[in-house]
Amino acid sequence: MTQERTRILIAGGGYVGMYTALRLQKKLHRGEAEITVIDPQPHMTYQPFLPEAAAGSIEPRHVVVPLRRVLRKCQVLTGRVSDRTALTIGLLTTAVGLGVPALLANLTGLLVAAVLIGLGTAAVTPVAFAALAATSPAERLGQTMGAAEIGRELGDAGGPLVIGALGAAISLATGFLGLGVLVALAGALAGAARIGTHHP
Ligand SMILES: Cc1cc2nc3c(=O)[nH]c(=O)nc-3n(C[C@H](O)[C@H](O)[C@H](O)COP(=O)(O)OP(=O)(O)OC[C@H]3O[C@@H](n4cnc5c(N)ncnc54)[C@H](O)[C@@H]3O)c2cc1C
Repeated sequence: MTQERTRILIAGGGYVGMYTALRLQKKLHRGEAEITVIDPQPHMTYQPFLPEAAAGSIEPRHVVVPLRRVLRKCQVLTGRVSDRTALTIGLLTTAVGLGVPALLANLTGLLVAAVLIGLGTAAVTPVAFAALAATSPAERLGQTMGAAEIGRELGDAGGPLVIGALGAAISLATGFLGLGVLVALAGALAGAARIGTHHP
């Protein structure tokens, strides 16, 4: 009987994807598993340095790492997994996470919520940033990503404010549920857009 070889697929060769693949290729023994990294770009970009590259303080080539050069024991594929699917799943996971403390108002509820919100955010953030980068002209990339970062910071502040406002007006559970409903609506919109793409 032939033994199936373990296959590991890493979707996205950005900061997290590249370092995960780097660690795995270092830790796994030869032939133990087959690691595949898929990303639309053949390189990893250190995003915090993009504004400096746009301003000309550092050279663009110092901001990127060619994936095939550093991931010699991995298979690197240039392509993308469906963006809208990742957005929908990420937003709905976040929405479920926000609903948990409303139903389970104790430490366990908060910890489960933190894990789900973290997983949801991890699915949404890179895909959304990549979609922005893909639709931005190269000469405006620095400004676009800088503006996106400000938007993300505003979102970081806005979520707790929505929960706080509803919490003060009604109850904390309503606050969590209210934000969960808003995030679920965003996920539903992303899903509806996906159906529209398949059936124009
Ligand atoms: C201007 C700016 C400044 C920042 N400053 C800081 C800072 O000071 N400190 C800090 O900690 N963080 C900072 N960040 C955030 C930091 O860059 C991110 O937290 C980090 O890059 C996240 O890593 P990641 O792997 O999750 O996502 P990314 O590094 O964005 O990688 C995601 C990868 O997924 C790929 N991808 C996207 N869609 C698909 C798809 N459909 N299929 C396959 N692959 C896909 C992308 O091409 C990309 O390579 C900053 C970000 C920006 C834009």
